[in-house]
Amino acid sequence: MATPPDCLFCKIVAGEIPAEVVHVTEHAVAFRDINAQAPTHVLVVPRAHYANAAELAHGDPEASAELLRVAAAVAAAEGHADYRIVFNTGEGVGQSVFHTHLHLLAGRPMTWPPG
Ligand code: 5GP
Ligand code: ZN
Repeated sequence: MATPPDCLFCKIVAGEIPAEVVHVTEHAVAFRDINAQAPTHVLVVPRAHYANAAELAHGDPEASAELLRVAAAVAAAEGHADYRIVFNTGEGVGQSVFHTHLHLLAGRPMTWPPG
């Protein structure tokens, strides 16, 4: 899929905007969220641009699965057996960057349901 010129996460993947990258694979890049909501708050994104998780799953199922494998690897590397994965989809539930990303959150107690 084409890279929109103004996409923040495409720019992070390309190394044009700095980020604290913690894990890279063929299809995915993981970096720390700039506004961490937990001791571990890492965003895992596909290198290719898709607007949300479902579009990625349709367009590139292998990359979609890789995001989950990377999240598990980062959680393990940071010593967390328990973690939460969130894909916000749509402005109404808080998506603010329209390049697929999962939030990996761990390291503190969490409530359910989320707010
Ligand atoms: P969303 O709200 O779309 O689910 O998540 C976007 C996330 O990107 C937010 O948690 C926000 O803190 C994070 N974010 C926004 N701008 C930057 C940035 O420039 N660098 C990094 N590392 N994270 C960012
Ligand atoms: Zn993008």
